[in-house]
Amino acid sequence: MSQELEKVKQNVIKCTKCDLCKTRINSVPGKGNFQSDVVFVGEAPGRNEDRNGEPFVGVAGKKLSIALEEAGISRDDVYITNVVKCRPPNNRVPSTVERNTCQEYLKQEILIIKPKIICILGNTAFNSILGGSEITKFRGKTVRKDNQFYFLTVHPAATIYNQELIEVLKKDIAKLFDMIRELKNGKTIPVDIEYSS
Ligand code: SF4
Repeated sequence: MSQELEKVKQNVIKCTKCDLCKTRINSVPGKGNFQSDVVFVGEAPGRNEDRNGEPFVGVAGKKLSIALEEAGISRDDVYITNVVKCRPPNNRVPSTVERNTCQEYLKQEILIIKPKIICILGNTAFNSILGGSEITKFRGKTVRKDNQFYFLTVHPAATIYNQELIEVLKKDIAKLFDMIRELKNGKTIPVDIEYSS
């Protein structure tokens, strides 16, 4: 891990900037390859993540791993993080205050890694990062904002009890890595939505 990223991780571990620090067991910094072409961003840690201090280690994490494996990608090759780094009680959606307070860490992770694409997993990340909603309507689409590409897909947790959605997630992840290959080969990729800040 880069020294800068390690510093962010340590700051997340000891962070007490919002009330979620009072109910967490562990804060959950991002994890993975700091040279990754893609940063996956989910909502917030769940129970297993809170216990382990690592992102996407529960059932939803397994779903994400399966989709990555089908695309020929190992989890070790990518970087995975969340909008909010501590578990909201009972897995409720993190509040606007919590998201805003925590967003500096995500910004730092992205600034250090400089991914070719940020993959947004689910509605909360979509809303927090791009102000969007209705991820199921926009999933599979590519967004460009301030010269940064984003790719939208469903949250892996949404696929747990929905067989159709796991196929959607797999299809989207395959498309994502096709686009990353294009970008690495110096080609352009189609942009479905252009955002201006
Ligand atoms: S959720 Fe973020 S801002 Fe709040 S205590 Fe955890 S790391 Fe700090």
